[in-house]
Amino acid sequence: PVVTRFAPSPTGYLHIGGARTALFNWLYARGRGGKFLLRIEDTDRARSTPEATAAILQGMAWLGLDHDGEIISQFENAGRHAEVAQDLLARGKAYKCFASQDEITAFREEAKAEGRSTLYRSPWRDAAPESHPDAPYVIRIKAPLTGQTVIRDRVQGDVTIRNDQLDDMVLLRSDGTPVYMLAVVVDDHDMGVTHVIRGDDHLNNAARQMMIYEAMGWEVPVWAHIPLIHGSDGKKLSKRHGALGAQEYQVMGYPAAGMRNYLARLGWSHGDDEFFTDAQAQEWFDLDGIRKSPAQFDLKKLENICGQHIAAADDAALRRECEEYLQAAGLPALDAAQSSALEKALYCLKDRAKTLPELLDKAHFALTSRPVECDEKAAKNLDTVSRGILAELTPHLQNVNWDKETLEDVLNGFAAAKDTKFGKLAGPLRAALAGRAVTPSVFDMMLVLGRDESLARLEDAAI
Ligand code: GLU
Repeated sequence: PVVTRFAPSPTGYLHIGGARTALFNWLYARGRGGKFLLRIEDTDRARSTPEATAAILQGMAWLGLDHDGEIISQFENAGRHAEVAQDLLARGKAYKCFASQDEITAFREEAKAEGRSTLYRSPWRDAAPESHPDAPYVIRIKAPLTGQTVIRDRVQGDVTIRNDQLDDMVLLRSDGTPVYMLAVVVDDHDMGVTHVIRGDDHLNNAARQMMIYEAMGWEVPVWAHIPLIHGSDGKKLSKRHGALGAQEYQVMGYPAAGMRNYLARLGWSHGDDEFFTDAQAQEWFDLDGIRKSPAQFDLKKLENICGQHIAAADDAALRRECEEYLQAAGLPALDAAQSSALEKALYCLKDRAKTLPELLDKAHFALTSRPVECDEKAAKNLDTVSRGILAELTPHLQNVNWDKETLEDVLNGFAAAKDTKFGKLAGPLRAALAGRAVTPSVFDMMLVLGRDESLARLEDAAI
């Protein structure tokens, strides 16, 4: 069974690149009935904060990337990591190195001066235990001296590293704490991780991590090192290209489903499919579809995809997402009446909004209440003549069926009788019903608002 994991270091918010890594791991596991695990790599005590962990979890929750099982803290596994180092020592795969920092520096300087490789070669690698001093030591792995290590990467292809370029890396520091490289391997093994999908900034680590797998006789996971995300100018993504935090996109009002769809397409593709559901993404996602070159972040494409997801969304779910957005953005919540009016209105709004705030703005007529305040343009459409016309019109709407056809008949009939076009009536009606000059269709607004509220608004305007 497939087991993937997301292993963020809690040193900041969940950035777009991290969110995409998490998404790829989630898609891969979910599409194969596997497990998606979450490990917080909090061994760097100085830089790890609980706030960052909370921000990462929140970002994942917003994106709907649910993980299986308990959240693993890497720091809490330190004892187990040390145990593995001791095990390697006992089995002759690692050794105690008593070299001081000064000796190591001297070795490197001499090697450099003589034009040799500066990789540290410890004299303690083959020293007999009887010769060991009673002094502090680190535990180093016995790296293979000849041959080569091949990282069989599902994205990068075979990456070959000559073993004479690998040094006997430290596994356990002199204070008994494990190094990061050991922690990752032990945790991935203990968690049963079968596929490591992560940023290609970790590709070099894979060669060193393989030494530990091999020394322990553990099965090496499938590697998939994915290229970074670049900005639209092809340069490494940075603040200059816009928001970097996944949650900033929540606050800007991009719907989570659209964000998932867009992020999935960032560096991975399934033919020409641009828009897809979660179920399709889970079914289609595969490591073979991941491109080797960096993906470019493109806000226009994100908005386009988000617009399609808003249009396709179920009204109740979309209304809930609007409410979550308001909360995330620190804006006032809707009251019960607004909430139900919004849900009723969505059918006529959702085709034309790329973000949730855009959608809420279009829903203004449904969210506002009497007396309806007019903006400047709308106010111009409510001059004395128009007000008089509305006063004449209102009685015609009093006792008719409140459906689109009837309303169209009444308004068109009224316009014809006044020897004018319906278009001339629309401005004043929009102003009266919504307080704006640009609104959804007059008929849709009247249907959403209902007879009583519509007539009350028209009467307010028809002095
Ligand atoms: N903690 C690492 C990072 O945040 C990820 C390590 C891994 O996935 O193996 O980049």
